[in-house]
Amino acid sequence: MSGVTLDGIVKAYGALQVVHGIDLTVAEKEFVVLVGPSGCGKSTTLRMVAGLEEITDGDLWIDGRRMNRVAPKDRDVAMVFQNYALYPHLNVAENMAFGLRIRKTPKDEIKTTIDDVAEVLGLTPYLDRRPADLSGGQRQRVAMGRAIVRHPKVFLFDEPLSNLDAKLRTQMRAEIKRLHNRLGVTSIYVTHDQVEAMTLADRIVVMNDGRIEQVGTPMELFNNPANTFVAGFLGSPP
Ligand code: ADP
Ligand code: MG
Repeated sequence: MSGVTLDGIVKAYGALQVVHGIDLTVAEKEFVVLVGPSGCGKSTTLRMVAGLEEITDGDLWIDGRRMNRVAPKDRDVAMVFQNYALYPHLNVAENMAFGLRIRKTPKDEIKTTIDDVAEVLGLTPYLDRRPADLSGGQRQRVAMGRAIVRHPKVFLFDEPLSNLDAKLRTQMRAEIKRLHNRLGVTSIYVTHDQVEAMTLADRIVVMNDGRIEQVGTPMELFNNPANTFVAGFLGSPP
């Protein structure tokens, strides 16, 4: 089962502890959104799952395997960032194929995969274009395509839409939801935008100051906030 379990996860930078013991289980195919104010430890938590930050204490399990000491490339996770960097000199197809080439995937298999993923993301007409000739939304789709072609067990998103304008953000939100319904990959999505959290999440994890305040479905949190922080955070205007 391709779930993710964080068991007492702690992160300290030297003497400064910023994540104070996170317990969370994300079920296979679930879409969980980590939400909370800037600096509360969302990215740090996600980066520990990805293997981009060392885990100070606690255990991380993916797919039933303890991952604390496993290299990022061997974790079967793909991460989509806010500042996605596409290779400017490569076209869309080549950008998406990059990670597969490194893994020495056979050429015909790369072609089939790229064609399938481009279709899902509506990128088929743009496969020959360079990033400079794409809109912001199309570029973000290429960045997602690059993650999807690797068929990861887990998707990690760190505020992937925060560089887009409001209209595009709403549109891409719907696309991410559709994509998740179609691919069913276990996903952890970080945002500080409560509307994004409410619309995307199977369950929302509200974080504050390196701790979890509450976990629940959007309706549970909205109808039954555990404390004034949760109520204030989810109730405040975007
Ligand atoms: P969020 O993503 O919720 O905005 P972060 O996970 O980026 O928050 O940061 C959590 C806390 O950890 C912040 O106080 C931040 O300043 C601190 N922090 C993040 N990275 C480092 C680092 N490399 N060294 C020291 N402190 C850091
Ligand atoms: Mg962050």
